[in-house]
Amino acid sequence: MTAIEVRNLHKRYGQRVAVDDISFTVEEGEIFGVIGPNGSGKTTTVESIAGLRTPDSGSISVLGLDPHKDRAEVREVLGVQLQESSFPDAIKVAEALDLYSSFYRNPADWRELMELLGLTEQRTTQYKALSGGQKQRLSIALALVGNPRIAILDELTTGLDPQARRDTWSLIERVRDTGVTILLVTHFMDEAERLSDRIAVIDSGRVAALDTPAGLIAQASAVQQVRFRVSRPLDKNVLTELPEVTDVEITDGRWSVTGRGQLLSSVTGALARAQVVAEDLRVDQRNLDDAFIAFTGRAPGSPAPAERKAH
Ligand code: ADP
Ligand code: MG
Repeated sequence: MTAIEVRNLHKRYGQRVAVDDISFTVEEGEIFGVIGPNGSGKTTTVESIAGLRTPDSGSISVLGLDPHKDRAEVREVLGVQLQESSFPDAIKVAEALDLYSSFYRNPADWRELMELLGLTEQRTTQYKALSGGQKQRLSIALALVGNPRIAILDELTTGLDPQARRDTWSLIERVRDTGVTILLVTHFMDEAERLSDRIAVIDSGRVAALDTPAGLIAQASAVQQVRFRVSRPLDKNVLTELPEVTDVEITDGRWSVTGRGQLLSSVTGALARAQVVAEDLRVDQRNLDDAFIAFTGRAPGSPAPAERKAH
């Protein structure tokens, strides 16, 4: 069954287009990653799904419900951990969980949740005295306290140290194993790759690519690079003429050939015909960071290149 369906979402703030045209479907039980540079429209999209922002056009369905018309019902099935969340400084961990659970018809057992999130020792600690990781875990607990079928987690490991990030990841997997569908927003590729069943790469308010982590890498690998030195002088045209080759660069005697398809066999074939031996031959292995750059033209976590105006 479909957990979330977003179709042709569009949202602008004044003249600024935040979400241009975003569509995707999240199936029940999956961890669906939304990744993109800062300012690409991720938070606007997920907060629209949660009914916290009103899109200008497009449609959203959450387990068949409309986030605006069916707001009360959506609140019961959808938990949100917001990018910017703040709680009263003096509230204690157990108090916060107890209070939030009272807002729901069928809340989770908040003590169990406190245990699951490793916060039992901090039960009487005030919010202001919690570490960054503990605050983050509390906000995840609060997103889950209503016993939601879907949880939206927006940049949940930003600001955490590497160990706390890894702990949070295993926690998310445990939550998924309890049957909760997770919409995970992040600008960290390693996080999206490690956790997500599928990933939507968002760029400038649009879906630049949508696939499994392995599928994204395979798509990006469609563009390959072969590097080598030549055993004797060679005319560049021998390679640029090949249908698989899109670019040939020579720096300090090192050849770098970019292209698609059967690039390696095509290049080595042409070299053999020219009686040239490729020395120190390397073929680029693509990873998900490269895939991200291939789809968006920039590194994960980098800001949007320029402000875009409505057209
Ligand atoms: P992301 O979560 O991917 O960083 P956002 O959805 O927060 O992206 O923002 C997308 C764009 O919309 C950005 O250019 C941002 O500055 C702008 N924006 C977001 N929220 C508001 C708002 N409440 N008012 C005006 N502009 C906003
Ligand atoms: Mg955001």
